[in-house]
Amino acid sequence: MEHLKVSMAQRIVLESVTLLGSEKITLEQSLGRVLSENITANRDLPPYDVSAMDGFAVKSSDIASPPVTLSIVEDIRAGDMPKVTIQRGQCSRIMTGAPVPPGADAVVPVEETQALSDVSVQINHVAQSGNHVRPRGENMKQGEVVLPCGTEITPGVIGILATTKKSEMQVYRRPRVAILSTGNELESINEPVNPDKIPDSNTYALMAQVQALGIEPVLLGIARDDPVELEQYLLLGLGYDMLLVSGGTSVGVHDYVRPTIEKLNVSMKFWRVAMKPGHPLAFGTTGKTAVFGLPGNPVSSMVCFEQFVAPALRAMMGHARLYRRTLTARLAHPVKIRPGRTEFIRVQLTQDEAGYLASSTGTQSSGVLLSMARADGLLVMPFDVPALAAGEQVTVQLLDGTTFQDNAGFKE
Ligand code: AMP
Ligand code: MG
Repeated sequence: MEHLKVSMAQRIVLESVTLLGSEKITLEQSLGRVLSENITANRDLPPYDVSAMDGFAVKSSDIASPPVTLSIVEDIRAGDMPKVTIQRGQCSRIMTGAPVPPGADAVVPVEETQALSDVSVQINHVAQSGNHVRPRGENMKQGEVVLPCGTEITPGVIGILATTKKSEMQVYRRPRVAILSTGNELESINEPVNPDKIPDSNTYALMAQVQALGIEPVLLGIARDDPVELEQYLLLGLGYDMLLVSGGTSVGVHDYVRPTIEKLNVSMKFWRVAMKPGHPLAFGTTGKTAVFGLPGNPVSSMVCFEQFVAPALRAMMGHARLYRRTLTARLAHPVKIRPGRTEFIRVQLTQDEAGYLASSTGTQSSGVLLSMARADGLLVMPFDVPALAAGEQVTVQLLDGTTFQDNAGFKE
């Protein structure tokens, strides 16, 4: 298999994963989930024409040439139902959110009036019909689909769900994700420090990347570079919707992950992508479980997660926007790369009058996790652009946040 472009590999991954089923959850649990049903308004809102201001409900035809004195026939508060129909020369004192009484067609804000007594008021400005009146059904009309299936549940959406009295709703199920680290050199977080070993960081960095998508993964631990032990762990992992294995996917003689995965009937779709970091990335599927063989280098596995795993997980839970948000920044310094692959450079972003400025977070070796930990984003170097000068425009993929976009947003 040849080295795939990032976009091609993304397409293969997205064609191989499927939308999961639905489940019912409560409103309180719903933030960040995706609706798998249409939500319909169960009434008109507001249920009647209401005042948008504290003031006086009037007949606009009465105050064509102000000032005009009107007699006050009723006091209407929010929650009251008006009893009196406004006749010529009359008005009602009305509060924000209160129903506009029959006969009135406009509200004059209290600031545009002058109180004469408890029962009369002088109106100082003309009022057009409809002024400061929120018409019945302005927010939503009974029977209207207000939130279509596929809507991501944000705080605003939760407000709409509460408005439509949905205390429970159908959403797409979250993927069940298992994470496995591999390598004889690895030391788990619970083991005493052995200076000859390498602490397992991938399990936890990947865990957090999964958690950032609203999914609680299962940590399988560390498998040694031993085909028998690895097979047992991989079998466990194939019980999940997605299995993330890091390490052992390359071409070393003790890189058993790919052959063992294949032995377990995972159909391999690709195992090399033209990118840096992240080149030895393997992907396959059993139909039920999507399996990623992520590179062992801590930065590589995180960068591959962002490009391939995150979009796949978001697609599985019904999101329409799959990709991290990108923005345009200026380079703070020149950048040089080896052409022929898409390169992701860890950068920090600052802002000046001209916009965002991107600067490298330090050494870009795929083993140096600190420069990833300090990064706000990944600057994407297209693979036919070997060098860029300071001040040139670049695309930066943001690494944090909960907002995503509907395309990758960069050129390879
Ligand atoms: P591999 O892909 O197995 O050849 O590993 C590449 C590099 O990543 C090696 O230096 C490994 O020690 C390192 N590595 C692999 N897995 C992990 C892990 N879980 N945590 C930290 N470093 C790792
Ligand atoms: Mg290894």
